[in-house]
Amino acid sequence: MTPLLVQAYDPATFRQQGHALIDQLADYLERDQQGGPHPVLPWLAPEALLADWEAEADQWGKADLNSFFTKLLANSIHIHHPHYMGHQVSGPAPATALASLVSALLNNGMAVYEMGASATVIERIVIDTLRKAIGFGEQAGGFLTSGGTLANLTAMLCARKQKANEDVWETGTRHQYAIMVSEEAHYCVERTVRIMGWGTAGVIKVPVDDAYQMRTDLLAACYQQALADGKQVIAVVGSASSTSTGSYDDLGAISAFCQAHGLWFHVDGAHGGAVVFTEKYKNLAQGIHLADSVVVDFHKMLMTPALVTGLVFKNGDDSYHTFAQKAQYLWAQTDREWFNLAKRTFECTKLMMSIKVYVLLRTYGLPLFDDYVTTLYDLGRQFAQLIQQRPRLELAVAPQANIVCFRYLLPDVSVAEANALNQGIRQAIVESGRFYIVQTSLKGRVYLRTTLMNPLTTEAELIKLLDYVEHTALLVAFPQVA
Ligand SMILES: *Cc1c(COP(=O)(O)O)cnc(C)c1O
Repeated sequence: MTPLLVQAYDPATFRQQGHALIDQLADYLERDQQGGPHPVLPWLAPEALLADWEAEADQWGKADLNSFFTKLLANSIHIHHPHYMGHQVSGPAPATALASLVSALLNNGMAVYEMGASATVIERIVIDTLRKAIGFGEQAGGFLTSGGTLANLTAMLCARKQKANEDVWETGTRHQYAIMVSEEAHYCVERTVRIMGWGTAGVIKVPVDDAYQMRTDLLAACYQQALADGKQVIAVVGSASSTSTGSYDDLGAISAFCQAHGLWFHVDGAHGGAVVFTEKYKNLAQGIHLADSVVVDFHKMLMTPALVTGLVFKNGDDSYHTFAQKAQYLWAQTDREWFNLAKRTFECTKLMMSIKVYVLLRTYGLPLFDDYVTTLYDLGRQFAQLIQQRPRLELAVAPQANIVCFRYLLPDVSVAEANALNQGIRQAIVESGRFYIVQTSLKGRVYLRTTLMNPLTTEAELIKLLDYVEHTALLVAFPQVA
C-alpha cells in the first residue's frame, strides 16, 4: 500500500475523527434544535457559494476533516431548526444517523442475499411491519427502494405488467395506455407515465374539489372518455396525501371504481401514508388496504434520513413480475427468492435502508411513529386556527395533514398582484434566513406553503412566523415606506 492509502484506511484516524465529529454534531443539534443562534438557512446565491467552495481547492490534500464538516454545517439548511417549515423532509432522529454511518461503512450491497444478509432479513421485518399497519393480509409483500418517485414508477411498471393486454416488457407496444390520477398528485406520477412512453395522453388528470381531493364522481366520465379516445386505462392512483395541500383522496371510492373496471389501484402515500401507524389519524387513509400497491416514504413522516421508501403489494407475488424477463419469470415461479432483492427492485446495489427504520423500532418501538405523526398533524390544525385569527391571512383549505397553505391579502388586489406579493414575501423570508417556508400554486393562486416537519416547532414559533409574514408583507408591498 502507498502511504496515502495507509493513511486513508487507518482505524486510529477514523476513531479520532469520528469522536470529534459526533461531538461536533451533538453540539450542532443542541444549538439547532433550540433555534440557533444561526439562521435556519444561511442564504447565499448559487454562484457566490460555488465561488466560495472553489476557492478552497488549493487546500485539497492538506485540509483536516473536521474543518470541512464545520464549513459544511455552516452552509447548509438546518432541518432540525424549529423554524424549518418547508419541504417534506424529516429531521431524522439522531439514532438513524448513526445507523446511516454503519450502513456507509459496512456498505453491504443488498442486491443478493449474501451481499447484505442481516439488512435483507431486517428489510423483510420492516416491510412486514408496514404491511400490518396498512391492513394487508399475510399474502402481501414488498421491499424498500430509493424514494417515492422510484417506488411509484416501480408500482406502475408492475401494474402495466398485470393489466396490459400484451407483454409490453417483452414486445414493446404502440398501443396507448393511460392512468387516471388527481390533478393535485405529485409530479412524479406524470413523470412515471412519460418514462413508460405513454406521453401526454397517458396521464388522465381527474379534477379536484374545493378541498383539493380527487372528484371521484368524475372517474366514470374520465374513463368513458379515455375508452372513446382508444386508450386502455391501466390504473387509478390515489394520493394519501397530495403534496401541495396534504389532501387525502377517497380511497374507498377509488377502490370500488377500480374493482368495477378491472383496474390496478395504487396509493401514493409517500407523505401521508404514515398515518397508518397512528390511532388518531389512520382514518384519513381509510381504504388503503384495498389498494393493489402502496408507497410510503420513511424519510418524510417516519423520521429516517433520505432515502427509505416502502413499496408494498397487496399480493406480494405481483412484485416478482415487474422486471421479470420470460425465462426468469418461469424460473421464479418455482422459487420466489424473497431474499435476493434485486430481482424485484429497480436498484442493483442498494443502501442498507432497513437498518435506519429498524434502529427506531428496536430502540423506541412503534409508538414513536404514532407520536411523531400525531404531534405534527395536531400542530397543523393548531396552525390553521392561528392563521384564521388574522384577517389579512387566508387559509387555502383546512389542513388534513401537517401541510398548511395560506396567503397574505390586501384589499382590492387582483390575482396577479396577490401572487406577486406572496412570491415576494416568500423570497424575502427565505433570503432572511429567519424561517424556511416554500410556496405553491393552487388553481392559479400563489400560497405560502408550510410543512410542519419538526416536532420541536411549537405554537410560539408559529406565531413568530405569522408576525414575520405580516411584517414582511408590508415591506414588500410598500417598499417606499420601508
Ligand atoms: C414527496 C412525494 C413523492 C416523491 O417522493 P421522493 O421520495 O421525494 O422521491 C411522491 N408522492 C408524494 C405524494 C410525495 O409527497
